[in-house]
Amino acid sequence: MMAFDEAKQRILERASLMPGELVGLHQANERILAEDLGARRDQPPSAVSAMDGYAVRADDCSGPGSQFVVTQTVAAGAVPQGPIGPGQAARIFTGAPLPPGADAILIQELTHPRGDARIATDANLTAGRYVRAAGQDFAKGQVCLKAGQRLGARHIGLAAAMNYPWLKVRRCPQVALISTGDELVHPGEPIGPGQIISANCAALQALVERHGGQALVFGATPDDKEALLATLDAARSADIIVTSGGASVGDHDLVGGLLRDHGLSVDFWKIAMRPGKPLIFGDFQNRVFLGLPGNPVSAVLGGLMFLAPLLAQMLGQDDPTEAWQTRNLSGSLPANDERLEFLRARLLPDGRVEAFNRQDSAMASVLALADGLIRRPAHAPTWSNGQIVDYLPLSGLI
Ligand code: AMP
Ligand code: MG
Repeated sequence: MMAFDEAKQRILERASLMPGELVGLHQANERILAEDLGARRDQPPSAVSAMDGYAVRADDCSGPGSQFVVTQTVAAGAVPQGPIGPGQAARIFTGAPLPPGADAILIQELTHPRGDARIATDANLTAGRYVRAAGQDFAKGQVCLKAGQRLGARHIGLAAAMNYPWLKVRRCPQVALISTGDELVHPGEPIGPGQIISANCAALQALVERHGGQALVFGATPDDKEALLATLDAARSADIIVTSGGASVGDHDLVGGLLRDHGLSVDFWKIAMRPGKPLIFGDFQNRVFLGLPGNPVSAVLGGLMFLAPLLAQMLGQDDPTEAWQTRNLSGSLPANDERLEFLRARLLPDGRVEAFNRQDSAMASVLALADGLIRRPAHAPTWSNGQIVDYLPLSGLI
């Protein structure tokens, strides 16, 4: 059995950074930017008003009773008709360019009408008041978004403002998902006696997509050599091939043995980890191959602990499973054996964490209830109430 850390390191060594591809701005949500993005224009392109009011020379507003002649009106998107001279004002609206000569905005709330085309104010103004300078948000050439940024609404809005109709993002690693087992049918399909519903394909698809990959779902193949080989042949175009089930050493566990005869070079087959000891990692016809165990909790936690960091590295992102917190244990735990354990746990209102009593790797319901995982090292001694433990919140991860 290989130690967890070494297994993970070997898997991560296989990661190569995905190449970039161009996508339309509207397809870029949640994608990873592949290059630094310099602004293609100044924003704003010229000095503009931040308020509705009058563009004036600040020096002309130096105390009670200042009067102005309104000589023009400028709306957003318009071009000023000419400069503003001493004692003159331009009616102006938010986002409109300042006429030459004007250097401040007198907001309309501080003005009084004085007949046709005249206003008065008692305000004192300094130059620049309510003016957004040219390039205040960003200047042409300024790098506002860096390679590696995961794009959300705010980054996409900024890219749009910088005048990018398309963006270069990292291509999503394609992950072929194949579940194996004679007993499996998909949710909603006709089901016979002794059969169970396949949970792993749907779960692993969600996991892959959450971590930036593109899932190619091949569904369930029976425990049959020809069927498995045919599915694998179809899956060969993916960057990563993931199977679930059939990874251990039972009579029906085909994956490792069968594939070894057909081009799988196995790096390791067993990990000192619970849940999920039988886990095959290797290379299948130049593709990264990960054979996860069939039990739903083992499959999902194997995916979380190995596939999610692999995807992150291929996308140039930080490992999402390294956000361990230290917490106090509620309750006690017996001494551990030689397998590192990820215990499903709940977070108590007082901040302590408590392992569920039922840690069976077939219990998807407990995993779904868990707030996080407690990491229990191999050969850990008995832990008593209050022990400091490593705890990984699952929210946002799976
Ligand atoms: P295996 O690794 O094939 O020996 O499967 C171990 C256990 O996981 C068995 O009880 C299987 O029925 C179950 N199992 C295998 N694949 C799936 C799947 N896709 N969804 C739910 N359970 C599965
Ligand atoms: Mg099986």
